[in-house]
Amino acid sequence: MSDSLPLSRRHFLAGSAASGIAGTALATQSTDASPQLPAARPTFISTWRFGAPANELALKTYQEQGSMLDAIEKGIGLVEADVSNASVGIGGIPNAEGVVQVDACIMSGPDHDAGSVAGVEDILHPISVARKVMEETRHVMLVGDGAKSFALDQGYSTTPLLTDSQKTKWEKWKEKQSVPEIDEQNHDTIAMIGVDSEGNVFGGCSTSGWGYKVPGRVGDSPIIGSGLYVDNEVGGAGATGIGENVMRYCASFMIVEAMRQGLSPQEACEATIERIVRKDSKNAEELAINFIAVNRDGEIGAAGTSKGFQYSVTTAQGTRVDNAKALTDAEIIEGGNR
Ligand code: ASP
Repeated sequence: MSDSLPLSRRHFLAGSAASGIAGTALATQSTDASPQLPAARPTFISTWRFGAPANELALKTYQEQGSMLDAIEKGIGLVEADVSNASVGIGGIPNAEGVVQVDACIMSGPDHDAGSVAGVEDILHPISVARKVMEETRHVMLVGDGAKSFALDQGYSTTPLLTDSQKTKWEKWKEKQSVPEIDEQNHDTIAMIGVDSEGNVFGGCSTSGWGYKVPGRVGDSPIIGSGLYVDNEVGGAGATGIGENVMRYCASFMIVEAMRQGLSPQEACEATIERIVRKDSKNAEELAINFIAVNRDGEIGAAGTSKGFQYSVTTAQGTRVDNAKALTDAEIIEGGNR
């Protein structure tokens, strides 16, 4: 891996110079699928291309206001409010009954605190409510109607999350009464992890989950240790993909623990995927699990079983969107055990 560092570093710095403005999106896309960037702090890493503007708002918020929790909440909130995003917040794909149910969680490394909401309806910013659960209650997780009532008590108002276009698509789906196929179009998540200039680690995650899911279904995203985990002594990890295949392994926790044992974020993501693929009856492609990770030094990693998995990383040098390393069954079997 060491020989990939200079190449990626060149890509990153060349893009920064071209932008001329620190913090401006570079949207540089490398083809080497090697996420070895120079460690930097503060750093924000998130899932998918749509994480890029979220990271940038997070960095700006941190730089201007000094709060990493505000940074994570605002960054993720940007994606939740984007009606064109079909997998997070408003505009998300509804469940089988045509109702959008959203899940979110947030973690604060310095005090190892967490908040989470799941299966919430009509709330525009579940990430904000998750933060309120963390800060205003003695609990970690609220679900369904209880989470919604809590949000209303906290001063949030209701917002219809089902857009006309998603309603029309759902009506067509309902006519066929088909079980939803898993494809790139009907699920995604924003998971974001941020490391501040001192090496403190924070994270958040938000999703509308698997499109046309069984009402009440909750995936990995709001489950601490599955869709997201941070440990201030080590770093953090987050997930996107089929939640059922992430939560059966507490995969984000596993990645953080692998980093604690000395693996780099990249190695930890790959080792976790390898371990899951070897154990599971599904093959890598069927599993559809994708991860991001960062350690407290600000070194990042990303890997997935989906070839199209992209992640975004933002530092004071700018933003880069890159293809994560894709691990196939063949590579995992040939690779031997870690
Ligand atoms: N992990 C999410 C879920 O299962 C969906 C995704 O990230 O693709 O709800």
